[in-house]
Amino acid sequence: MFCRDCGGPQGQEGHPGGKEKGAVIRSGAAGSGVDHWESCCTNPCSRVTPKEIAEAYIREQDYYSNGIGHYIECREGYDQLLDMESFGGKIRDTEGEFRGAEFRDAETGLMFAYDYKNKFTLRVWGTTFKPALYRELKRLKVKLVERTEATALLTVETGGKKRGIGAIGMNVRTGRLYVFPAKSTILTMSRPARVWLFNPGPGGALRVSAAPEHWQRARHGL
Ligand SMILES: Cc1cc2nc3c(=O)[nH]c(=O)nc-3n(C[C@H](O)[C@H](O)[C@H](O)COP(=O)(O)OP(=O)(O)OC[C@H]3O[C@@H](n4cnc5c(N)ncnc54)[C@H](O)[C@@H]3O)c2cc1C
Repeated sequence: MFCRDCGGPQGQEGHPGGKEKGAVIRSGAAGSGVDHWESCCTNPCSRVTPKEIAEAYIREQDYYSNGIGHYIECREGYDQLLDMESFGGKIRDTEGEFRGAEFRDAETGLMFAYDYKNKFTLRVWGTTFKPALYRELKRLKVKLVERTEATALLTVETGGKKRGIGAIGMNVRTGRLYVFPAKSTILTMSRPARVWLFNPGPGGALRVSAAPEHWQRARHGL
């Protein structure tokens, strides 16, 4: 969960902060490390455009899909990966460990998965990513409240409209409850899952209880 304006370092106003029920350095489904990064249509070796792959995703899902979301993913996927590299994540074979491999580009050291002709999915050293993100959060002095599980969203009704004003969180080790006032709150708690993604968290339930109409919109990708 990510709360904006909930009180940053040195009490600065308007500084974003993050709540995480685990330890940010290895939390979440990506904590164990991913092996490929999809939708890098703008990398220098790609032979496809963001539009082509966004349309392919939409067709693959029988048009029940969020085309705008897919286009953004395809247009910005590689930019996000370069951000990750700038934070210290490893995205290319700098040591030549895979020199000569069919899926390796000699000039850039980038390596590809699945489709060696069109080259829009990159093989990466995903175990380096969460620690790199964590270091970047620290460098930016983002206030982190770790091992604290969001248990409810706070809302207020004014003029017939419901508005989020923060959340309640519980430290999973001490059981202590905290109130986090926030001008805006972004939920990034993934979805309830157990078998593949590591997240039995209550993110979906929080959304349903605080704003069922928003949950319906999110389900339909709007
Ligand atoms: C083994 C494995 C390999 C994978 N390999 C790849 C791959 O190669 N390429 C790829 O694209 N994808 C891969 N994936 C999928 C990818 O990792 C996930 O889709 C992605 O990380 C999901 O990101 P997310 O931010 O939505 O959720 P998450 O990374 O799960 O983040 C949600 C965070 O919210 C926290 N949280 C949940 N509930 C609460 C709460 N109530 N209060 C506070 N915090 C809470 C969780 O602890 C977690 O840190 C893989 C997944 C796994 C498990």
